Amino acid sequence: MPAPAPADLAPPKRRRGLLVGLGVLLVLVLVAVPAFLVLNSGSGQEPATAAGQSPSASGSPSPTGPAPSPKPGDPPHVQLAWTKARITESLGAMNKAFRAGDLAAFVKPAFDKKMRAELERRFRSLRAMRARDFALTIDSGPFDSKMVGGYAEWGVSVAINHCYVQSPCEPQNLLVDTAWRDSPKGFRLTKFSLVKDVYGPQPWEYSTLTAAIGSRAVVAAPTALASRARSFLPAAERAAKIADRYVLGGPKPDRYVIYLAGPSEWKKWFGGTEDWAIGYAIPVSDQRSDIVLKAAEISGGYAESVMKHEMGHVATLAGRDYHDANGENWWLTEGIAEYIEWDGRSVSSYDRKQSSRRMLREKKFTGNLEKLVPADDAPDWQIDAAYGLGYYATRCIADQYGHAKLMRFADVVLRGGRPSEVESQPILGAAWSTVTKRCLAYTKQKVGA
Ligand SMILES: [Zn+2]
Repeated sequence: MPAPAPADLAPPKRRRGLLVGLGVLLVLVLVAVPAFLVLNSGSGQEPATAAGQSPSASGSPSPTGPAPSPKPGDPPHVQLAWTKARITESLGAMNKAFRAGDLAAFVKPAFDKKMRAELERRFRSLRAMRARDFALTIDSGPFDSKMVGGYAEWGVSVAINHCYVQSPCEPQNLLVDTAWRDSPKGFRLTKFSLVKDVYGPQPWEYSTLTAAIGSRAVVAAPTALASRARSFLPAAERAAKIADRYVLGGPKPDRYVIYLAGPSEWKKWFGGTEDWAIGYAIPVSDQRSDIVLKAAEISGGYAESVMKHEMGHVATLAGRDYHDANGENWWLTEGIAEYIEWDGRSVSSYDRKQSSRRMLREKKFTGNLEKLVPADDAPDWQIDAAYGLGYYATRCIADQYGHAKLMRFADVVLRGGRPSEVESQPILGAAWSTVTKRCLAYTKQKVGA
């Protein structure tokens, strides 16, 4: 069944927002990734058992025993080793509590009511999303000790790892800042920040979420949108099964995660995005990308189309080192998402045909795919056409050179960062100038220009 034209489903401005918003976010987020990696380097594998080794450094006679309680006059490293061991114990107890579904034990280290609410929100959201292999571990610290209300308080950078529904998965190492106060009741959490750097705030730490769980997708939403989450799931499952067939660069995602945002969540999750956008795919760790949709503006058959397109981005781009979402490969980034959305349906029923024809007839496109990325101030029909022309070029490569070669080409160019001009000959068996010329002719023929 041909999909209705975008304008039938949402005002063109919003359709444009969906797609442009995606590109902008990808660029902003990905450019920041290397900094994140640098922060982590060398510390990601620091074992949680490090505290157990500290006593030997502090002169304890039992290197395998617990860190000794510090006494007045002990050197600072003894205090530090002891503090690290206590915090490690607390995190271990929280991990156990999370896996057992024991909320009371999970929030036990909270210093006050406010902190308890912070921990409870994360617990409820991630449990609803069936987080597996949940683990909080010390990434670095304790450090920056200071006296608060007569007690020592320590900063600790904590890594959060988890999978959804199935395990195991690659460590995600989302980092949060925490602070622990050495109170008479033991070390108590006085701070548990949102996920740092480019990956926060994640929806599950900002909002209390419910989730509908399918075999290939998880649709999560704030409690007020719980019924929408359930009603989105069947379309998400269908879209996921299609996107699964196009995964590049490794195994299928454990689940495609779709977050449905209300108006306030839209402004906050992942730092918010433009009001006029309706959805985007975004890297949420070094390994995975998830999808955010504006619940109020996506319904019916449109939901499935949008999810196929966005899951197409997840399937082709998740976990890559990719810096060019809005650059010369824009045509292929979006072209392949459109190609996955269209999933082998007849090219003659493609829904951006008219705008694409107009671009060709008005000679606003003469075949240079690397220049296809639309300007921010381009009229809506030209933005629609840019996606369309990206699709036709992508579809052309599949039709003229074969689907398998297209996917290999996309993998090497989008994920590997290799130039099209260099990879065209070995992969497609033709010079890039020949491919683009042939695909311009293909496009003209398909749109009737
Ligand atoms: Zn897109």
